[in-house]
Amino acid sequence: IEGKKISIIGAVKSGIAAARLAKKLNAIPFVSDSSSESKLANAKQIFENEEINYEFGFHSDKVFDCDFIVTSPGVPTNSEVLSKAIQKGIKIYSEIEFASWFCKAHIISITGTNGKTTTTALMNHTLNNCGFKSISAGNIGKPFSEIVFDLTENDFVVLETSSFQLDFIENFKPKFSIILNITPDHLDRYENNFSKYIASKINIVKNQNEDDFFIYNADDLNTYSTMKNSRVQKLGFSTKKEISVGAFLKNNDLHFAWFGKVSKVASANDLFIKGEHNIANALPVLAISKLLNIPNQKIRESFSSFKGVEHRIEFVRELNGVEFYNDSKATNVDSVVVALKSFSKPIYLILGGKDKGNNYDDIKELVKKHVVKIYAIGSSAQKVYDYFHSLVETEIKNSLEECVETARKEAKQNSVVLLSPACASFDMFDNYEHRGKVFKEAVNNLI
Ligand code: ADP
Repeated sequence: IEGKKISIIGAVKSGIAAARLAKKLNAIPFVSDSSSESKLANAKQIFENEEINYEFGFHSDKVFDCDFIVTSPGVPTNSEVLSKAIQKGIKIYSEIEFASWFCKAHIISITGTNGKTTTTALMNHTLNNCGFKSISAGNIGKPFSEIVFDLTENDFVVLETSSFQLDFIENFKPKFSIILNITPDHLDRYENNFSKYIASKINIVKNQNEDDFFIYNADDLNTYSTMKNSRVQKLGFSTKKEISVGAFLKNNDLHFAWFGKVSKVASANDLFIKGEHNIANALPVLAISKLLNIPNQKIRESFSSFKGVEHRIEFVRELNGVEFYNDSKATNVDSVVVALKSFSKPIYLILGGKDKGNNYDDIKELVKKHVVKIYAIGSSAQKVYDYFHSLVETEIKNSLEECVETARKEAKQNSVVLLSPACASFDMFDNYEHRGKVFKEAVNNLI
């Protein structure tokens, strides 16, 4: 790497971290980002202070004067700058590929359309809780390039890995890889071709060998049918059927099976986080924990002490027998399906925000079954009202605070007040995190 010219595309978190890593290795980084300088003030200051060359606002031909390119996950694979580089025969690597060249630790790489952050956080929590030294990185928190030098050969790094980061890998080789599920998403970046999106995810196993482990979702045909050719040791997980090598749910218990030898490891009730989707997220963590010989009792302890990730069906508070949950990350209808299925108690649901062309047919039956009342907010409040008011009591509210106050008065003992809006937040808030914080504040202010 020393003395090599490395062009880095993108000057946000991963790009900055990759540039710093390159500089540390005495390479010559050059960072190029087509966003305007005003949006990249943080990067500008860092690059000026640390003498890293850069250009903002465009990609000039200087980008191609390099030994190779490191690209950030936010840069579309079919963007002009990457297409040109490919035409010129320049090697392109993703930021996690680049960082992995310098990684001494065991890598656990987790991908999937849904559940990556939760599973990454649970895996990391379990390892740390059981005496291993582990850090989470990638899409969650810090970029891999930023922490890679802090790791020793005994450590673990749990990487939340998006398909974009898997698009340009060559030698990236996790000790353990997980594919949680694959459903059509981000297809705009894959020429509207679902197979290309699947192929990108499957890259996670491409360099794994007999000493490595791949944990796949045996309930999801898209992951199951695509891993036939790999030499890696394979373990399945399922919430629906028994598995002979892997982890599965049966009679509300979580089992581990190793070539026919089956043991009961935990009960689903040991998991603090709610819902069958979270059992699906916990099963691959359980499988890796068993491969690492973690005792069952420690696994159970880790599952019950993991309180979930902020804004994902996050328990906020109980007041007079009513539980309040913040699911602000639910920015689409699919996420609301998952949330509604996670509760057996009656639900007072806060729905609405910036609509993304939502079709509520998918939650119609669930709403009829579980929801007592809907509070509709945001720019789509009227649409929510129009769709639901004949099915269940629905009321338009002006603010999240108003929803919380009214719900608190109306919710009966032994019920749930749930913010799971099915919409983006930008009509009223900076982002979904901001929306979740406002909700939690309102809930915590109730007396
Ligand atoms: P990601 O990082 O992949 O976006 P998260 O862990 O942040 O996933 O979860 C985001 C949302 O995705 C959750 O609020 C929930 O609605 C849904 N979700 C989580 N896990 C699963 C799963 N295993 N299957 C289906 N949906 C899930």
